[in-house]
Amino acid sequence: MSRFPSAANSGATPIPVRSWYGLRGEIAVENELWHLVKVAGVSLNHPPVVNWIMRRGPPPEDRLRLSFFHEYGHLQTFPLALAHLAWLLFMGRWRGLGAKGLLARLAAAAVAHEAVWELASETYAILGAGPEYRRAYRAHPNPLRPLFWAVMVTLAILGSILTLRPRDDAS
Ligand SMILES: [Zn+2]
Repeated sequence: MSRFPSAANSGATPIPVRSWYGLRGEIAVENELWHLVKVAGVSLNHPPVVNWIMRRGPPPEDRLRLSFFHEYGHLQTFPLALAHLAWLLFMGRWRGLGAKGLLARLAAAAVAHEAVWELASETYAILGAGPEYRRAYRAHPNPLRPLFWAVMVTLAILGSILTLRPRDDAS
């Protein structure tokens, strides 16, 4: 089990993590503006867009802990997200699209992949944080949470359909 951020380490110090499939990394949920995830020596710094939307409401300590679970969820659910992307690339109709059609379809696949990964990571955060997750939001409701699920599920389904649909022969 990894060491999760506590009151003593609110997330600013990188915490070494190990995924269930052996990949090691480091996660630092530095503050509400910046996250650092290091995997296999490669830094993947990014603004925490999803965490910024999802962690509205709960106090800072809960926010950072739940954000940590979400970032860890990205590492843990990476194979699932990769499998979905591989499925899209394998099953997608790629021939005879032309450059514009090919780019549009690749973009749809990328959006669907990203949405599936976000959904998987947040599901991981719910399961990983357990009662803590429910407690944090029951005490401090966040009206934007349903929006996250609605938008991500829509993007995942729509992006997948657009990637897999038969090509438009009329064009
Ligand atoms: Zn995320």
